[in-house]
Amino acid sequence: MGEDREWRVLRYEDGVPIYACAYHPQRETTLRCNRCGRPICTECAVLTDVGYRCPDCVNELESRFYRAAPRHVLTSLAAAAGLGFLTGLAGVFIGRFLGLWTVLVAFPWAGLVAEGIWRAGARHRARHLNVYTAVLVFLAGLTGVAVGTWWGLGSPLTGLLLVGIAAATVWRVRY
Ligand SMILES: [Zn+2]
Ligand SMILES: [Zn+2]
Repeated sequence: MGEDREWRVLRYEDGVPIYACAYHPQRETTLRCNRCGRPICTECAVLTDVGYRCPDCVNELESRFYRAAPRHVLTSLAAAAGLGFLTGLAGVFIGRFLGLWTVLVAFPWAGLVAEGIWRAGARHRARHLNVYTAVLVFLAGLTGVAVGTWWGLGSPLTGLLLVGIAAATVWRVRY
């Protein structure tokens, strides 16, 4: 909690200090950021899991949250490309035996792909990583489907099914 005197008290009401919002000096407020103590009006306050916070604290914590180094992002992207390609190949091949029942293994498979990407990045978060990895899974997956079909492993249909579900799953993960 910051010292009260750091913030401008506009007036007191029954002994309760009414502050000026740190971002809007003309606005009165009794609400304060529960991390730094900065007075914030209802428009500035951001409701988080742990209470009201000022925009500065929210930005600071978000940039700490997304702390992946470039090498973590690169290994995640490499894993997405590799696993995506494998997904395309596997989808074509599995389809020979399972046909459209491939849809049953598609979700657990997609979970493994998402998990593999997460581990490859050493479990470090990065902004929009889910979007980039999903696009790579999709593109590499299409390549895998094309190669698998070319090799005569099976039908492209189940390959596309597996790739589509894997890419959609990866997209929804918050890496
Ligand atoms: Zn704050
Ligand atoms: Zn404000």
